[in-house]
Amino acid sequence: MKYINFEDAGDAVSDEIYMREALKEAQKALEQDEVPIGAVIVCNGKIIGRGHNLTERLNDVTAHAEMQAFTAAANYLGGKYLLDCTLYVTIEPCVMCAGAAYWTQITRIVFGAIDKKRGFSGFGRDLLHPKTTVISGVLGNECAALVTSFFRNKRNK
Ligand SMILES: [Zn+2]
Repeated sequence: MKYINFEDAGDAVSDEIYMREALKEAQKALEQDEVPIGAVIVCNGKIIGRGHNLTERLNDVTAHAEMQAFTAAANYLGGKYLLDCTLYVTIEPCVMCAGAAYWTQITRIVFGAIDKKRGFSGFGRDLLHPKTTVISGVLGNECAALVTSFFRNKRNK
């Protein structure tokens, strides 16, 4: 697996555009009092899957934004492999979502903020498929701020 910094990425502009779409999904989660994490999957310049965290509403710990987006994208493509696809997600995927990403063989993962506690990279990058490229830090501050303020508000209630 290649691990490149955002600064080195050639398609930085489109990465920001799609990360803004993932942030819109995160906003939808926030409006439903869910931890605000959002994801989109892009294939050939088209968004083919969207998702936001729904673990409270669905009473399902697996209902992470990425899982919703994987399912939506696979439905769109009519196949389980997400080749030539990029996952944009506002927060670094957890181990479960990295594992699911492995099974999809997705080409790229672009995430916003690092999750030091639950992010997959703390558990070893081998969780992802060897073909998968990862870019981190795209609109990272905005992505992190949503989650930070969500938990701050929770504590103050
Ligand atoms: Zn996850």
